[in-house]
This record gives sequence, structure tokens and C-alpha cells, in this order.
Amino acid sequence: MPDIQVLSTHVADLIAAGEVVERPASVVKELCENAVDAGAKSVTVEIQNGGMSLIRVTDDGKGIAPDEVETAFLRHATSKIRSEYDLEAIGTLGFRGEALAAIAAVSRLEVLTRRPADDLGVSLTLEGGVKTDREEAGCPAGTTMLVRDLFYNTPARLKFMKKDAAEGAACLAAVQRQALSHPEVAFKFIRDGKQELLTPGDGQLRSAMYAVLGRDMALGFVPVEGSGEDIQVSGFVSQPTCCRGNRGYQFFFVNGRYIKSQTLTAALEQAYANQRMVGKFPGCVLHLTVKLNRVDVNVHPTKQEVKFGAERQVFSAVYYAVLAALGADKSRPAVTVGTAAKPPAESYQQTSLPLHDFTNHGTAGTVLTVPEGQKDRPSGPFTHPAGPVSAPAAEVPSRPVPQAEVRSPRRADPVQSVGTAQKPDREGATVFKESPPAPAQADFPPVSKEPPPRIEETPPAPAADAAQTDHPVSSEEEPWRIAGELFRTYILVEQGDKVLLIDKHAAHERMNFDRMRSVDYTPMSQTLIAPVVYTPAPEEAAILLDHLAELDRVGFEVEDFGGGSLAVRRVPDYVDMGEVEAALGEIAGKLALTGTTGETERMDEIYHTMACKAAIKGGWKNAPEELERVAKAVISGEVKYCPHGRPVCIELPRTELEKQFKRRP
Ligand code: ADP
Ligand code: MG
Repeated sequence: MPDIQVLSTHVADLIAAGEVVERPASVVKELCENAVDAGAKSVTVEIQNGGMSLIRVTDDGKGIAPDEVETAFLRHATSKIRSEYDLEAIGTLGFRGEALAAIAAVSRLEVLTRRPADDLGVSLTLEGGVKTDREEAGCPAGTTMLVRDLFYNTPARLKFMKKDAAEGAACLAAVQRQALSHPEVAFKFIRDGKQELLTPGDGQLRSAMYAVLGRDMALGFVPVEGSGEDIQVSGFVSQPTCCRGNRGYQFFFVNGRYIKSQTLTAALEQAYANQRMVGKFPGCVLHLTVKLNRVDVNVHPTKQEVKFGAERQVFSAVYYAVLAALGADKSRPAVTVGTAAKPPAESYQQTSLPLHDFTNHGTAGTVLTVPEGQKDRPSGPFTHPAGPVSAPAAEVPSRPVPQAEVRSPRRADPVQSVGTAQKPDREGATVFKESPPAPAQADFPPVSKEPPPRIEETPPAPAADAAQTDHPVSSEEEPWRIAGELFRTYILVEQGDKVLLIDKHAAHERMNFDRMRSVDYTPMSQTLIAPVVYTPAPEEAAILLDHLAELDRVGFEVEDFGGGSLAVRRVPDYVDMGEVEAALGEIAGKLALTGTTGETERMDEIYHTMACKAAIKGGWKNAPEELERVAKAVISGEVKYCPHGRPVCIELPRTELEKQFKRRP
């Protein structure tokens, strides 16, 4: 029985109909798929003039039997399925039996093929789908498809082609997707004589990603491993700080097939809720292994869309796998110093990348640089799609102990050391000196002996070991100590062989956010002796009155005062009287934006606003215990990103400093 057969009309009619050859990249895709299906270990794709004048795909797969070569070019001729039942569990990339026929019809095509066991192969030439030549040929085992003058006989189609550069880039992207979907196959891409991609084919997804995305980019990804009912999820997702301005780095594969899926995109992006910046999208290379009969690939001619039997389960499997991966990731953005070190943002600009949105803000002079994605700070509201959210396991005490906070820039504060300040640290050096302090440390650690002018902040209670200067945090964590504070904004921590810089506001904001979202959160609020009565804009009043329960959950008691006015009877204890209107206005604005989204999303918007308001701010003078508490939360890994996705901590390795001071080469 021949391997390649023409499908019956009945089966052919069941196959999603439509055009598969739209541009050179579609030819590249189809030919690569055939090579992979043929069991190739290495595939070389060569194009000229964007693929318009030449596309050559060479593989070392199983080849085609001499007496079946012509059949392969007939419509609905395939070796991959036979009956309609095979359509229910498709395990190959191809199954429609149409690609070769469609490509041959619009080009001058030459195929050279030999099965490894045969002595001789076949060379067959077709023009516009019509056979022009056939002869025996001595050739390497495998198949070479040579497609010339694409669309030479369909001028209407030819008109729609973009510039060679654009078509060529699309061809490269098609090969990149194949390379990421089959790390066990070595892919090579040569454009106009220049090699632009080479993957090792060692079966490691990480290696394929290095080759396709570039090393620096691939380093910003963390591994994902998870499973659900009848489904396995594995691969890599980008760290929240490495999110991009578009979805160009989202690669989803189902059973080795690159697909586009709103379900998968939503599952991925929801796992980043409250961790990524507004307008930034996570990247991923995620492979899903689904039982063949649980996914229908016969929904679109290009086979880039699939239908899942259990959409919800697929969503959950991806969502939880990504969530777990992000939770397990302990890495922090690293700082590089100086001119010698290339800013990481620059090295993201791989020439092979089809899509990127990085601008190179490479800097001259000796400066600290942070990867681009970690630099910019959006001010707009954070929005994210609906979806399940697990309660964060925050360890922040639920009843914060009020702590004096001096916000005004009072300089003449008497300085005093903290509890165990005289205690020597591990190396025997005194960390916090008894007064009089060195001038550089004049305001750290700053606890005023006088009663502070006003209480502005209610930070979480200091941890039991807050007064220690060296913290044995856990068996796997290195001891650390606060070495100072910069600009009253960044907490400077020494830990092992690195320096950590913690953005105290961002970190505290995250702590508050997680605490507010925890199930047992009870807001600390104060009942006002006389309610604040004010008249907001009409829609604003309506929105607030519509969400009284939500407001109550963060400590606001608001009532309708009649005549379009509101009476505010209770406010969160960290909100000043003068800030009540502004805070409620901000919440109303967020609620208006979230519109009809679910309750979790609405509450998250409110928590975002309130977490920021309750947080210590850059420029404030904080008690050492407060800084310790924040640093501890960050170093333990409990806090990684602020609710807007900005990093809370960056690392400066000691080696980097030593390089700058020329202590090491
Ligand atoms: P499909 O891939 O959907 O079966 P195609 O038109 O792409 O349809 O290919 C027709 C048939 O030709 C395939 O089923 C396969 O048997 C054979 N074929 C195509 N390309 C190759 C190749 N590179 N190596 C071996 N066989 C191939
Ligand atoms: Mg095919």
C-alpha cells in the first residue's frame, strides 16, 4: 500500500478549507512542517529576495518513495491521515495534504528526494503545478524543496507582497517559531547568503531560546513546569521586569505546533496581574502537551488556531504553572557599572529578532545602568484582565503597631542608636555607631528622642529580630545588614557578596497591597468626630455610592448626604483629613475605568490606590525598625515587585565594585 494517498472526497470535505500559501513565509512554514514530520534532525532554510525568487528547504528526513513523488503534489494527497477518524487525534504537523499542491501551483518547483535505504533518489520539476521533468538522481538522503519565482503566474497575488526585507523577516520568524517548537531539530536560516539563525538541535528548549531570542533576553526568562488534567505545561516565561511593549514574545505551542490562542494569552497575562507595568506584556515560550483527542487542530487552514476540549482546564493549567514559576523565581535585576559593561538593554537588540520595542539608551561615563524594561515608571492606573487570583501568603502582621514617623525635613533631630546598635556585627566592627555619629551617617539610624510632630504612618510591627544588625534569615539565606539609606529613598543592604538597593516606597506599597488582599485583613480606621461632607462630580458620587461595600473594606464609611453630597464618617487611619476627597476621587476614577469587571479586579484597583497611600514615601525619614521590616520582606523574597510591576530591589555585585576600583581585572 502506498504511503501517500489521495484522501476520499468525504474526508477532504471535512478539512478546514482555505488558502495556505499567502506569502513566502507560508511556504517556509509548510515546508519546515513537512521536514519535521519526516523526522528530520536538521533543516536548512535558504531564501533570496525575501523568498520571492528562491526558497530552498533541505532536510535529512525519511524522504519520499520514488513512485510516490508525483502523488505528493496532488491535492489532498497525504501520508498522515486516512480516514475521518484520524482527524480526531492528529499527531503530525501536517494532515491536509494540500501544501505541496498549493505551492507547486504558484511557482517553479523542484524536489530532490531520497529515502535513506534507497540507492538513488528522484528529481522532479513542476511549473505552475504541471510536471515538466523527472529523472533519477544521486542525492543525499532526505528531501530538498526548491521553490522559485513564487506567484509568477498570479500577478494579482504578487501585487500584495511587501518589500523583500519584510517578506524575508516573516520567513525568519516562521523558522524561529519552528525552532522554538522543536528544540530537537537543528534549524539553520540563510538569507541572501548570510546565515541569520542556527539552533543546536540538542533537545533543550533553553538552547533554542538562546539562539532565537538572544542570550540576554533568554536570561530574563524563568522556567515553568506544571500539569493539569490531561495537560502538561513546560517552558519559560519572562520575569515581570522583563515584560515588553507588545505581545511579540509570546510563543505558545500545543503538541509541538505554534498556535495563537486568546485563552492561553489570557492565562499567561493574568498570572502577571499586579506584577507587571501598565502597557507591558509578558513573554513566554510555553509548550503544552495535550492528549491528541482533547484538542482540535482542524479549525483553520493555516493550523495556527486550535480548539481545546476543556478550555477552562487549559486556562487553569497555564495560569497556575506560570504563577508558580513567578513565585519561585528569586532573581533580582542586577546593576552593572561603567562603560565597559554594555547596558543589557542594548544587547536585547538581536539582529535576528523579528519584533522588539527596546530603545537603546546606552549611557556614556561611569554610571549605574538597569535593563531598560526595569527603568521606566508609569504613572497611569494599572489595569489587568479578569481571572482567578489566589490570596497572597503575606506574612505582614494584620494589626500594625503605630510608629512615629517624621515626614517634615527636620534636620536638627538628636540622633540615637537603635536597640542593639553597639552590638558588634560578625566581623567585629560596630555597625551603627553610638553618638556622635559620623557626619555621613548623621540621619541614619534616625529615631527622634523628642515626640514626633505628628503621626503620619503606621508601618507594620517590627519583626522580633528587627533590632539585630545581622540577620540569619533562614538556612538557605545569607545573613544581611542594613548599611544605610540613600536619598531617604533606597535602603542599602549588604548581603554576602552583594549590595542590594531597595526602593522603600515600592516595597512597602507591595507589602500593604498583599496585606490588604489577604482574607483576614481588617483596615485600621478612625471614626471622625464630625463627618467630612463634600460634593464630588455627579458621576463620581454615583460611582462611590455604588461601591460602599468596597469602600468599607479599606476603611471608608461613606453615606449619601443628599443633594449630591457625600458624608464621610470613617477613614483609614493613614489618610489625613485633607486627603479624604482626593483619595475618594482617585478611587472613583479607578472604579470608572474598571467598569464592569469582576469584584477581584475592582478591589485590586482600590487596593492599588490605598497601598500607595499607606506606604512610606521616598524622602521620608523612617525609623530603622521600619526600614528593617521592609528590607526583611524583600530579602526573604516575600516582596518582589510593586503592584505596578516595578522592581523593588536591584543587586550590585561586589565584583562589579571591585572592577570599578581596579581591584580585579
Ligand atoms: P501534508 O503535510 O498535509 O500531508 P503536504 O502537501 O504538505 O501535505 O505533503 C504531502 C505529502 O508529501 C506528505 O504527507 C508527505 O508524505 C510527503 N512529504 C512532503 N514533504 C516531505 C518531506 N520533506 N519529507 C518526506 N515526505 C514529505
Ligand atoms: Mg504538509
